Amino acid sequence: MDPVAFEHHLTSPQGRGRLPAGATTATVDGGACCDRIRFSIAVSEDLVADAGFEARGCGAASAAASAAVALVRGRTVLEAAAVGAGEITAELGGLSPVKLHAAQLAADALARAGRRCGACGGGAVHARRAHAGRA
Ligand SMILES: [Zn+2]
Repeated sequence: MDPVAFEHHLTSPQGRGRLPAGATTATVDGGACCDRIRFSIAVSEDLVADAGFEARGCGAASAAASAAVALVRGRTVLEAAAVGAGEITAELGGLSPVKLHAAQLAADALARAGRRCGACGGGAVHARRAHAGRA
């Protein structure tokens, strides 16, 4: 556990309330505390140019969404959609078991937004093809 990392995302959320121009958004609900996370990503040439979120529910949901924003900026759509709860938890410096649902919810919202990504005309499959040529 790293309380400093968690506090940072809790008190200074990355991208909270931000809705980038042309962003693709996805909303998920869940968790014992009725959390809701709306996650938005804006893509430019297969890279996540910007991201933002709105969160309701427990503080952990907001912190997890903030961590997800920090993790996806500058990544490819494919990489961003593959960011899982484990990586979000690590970015937060660890989560207690009762808060793990927040990381899962943020990962779900992120993956859905990534898959829906309109800018790349079909999400992960398109991104994979585009990058196969560059590797
Ligand atoms: Zn919660």
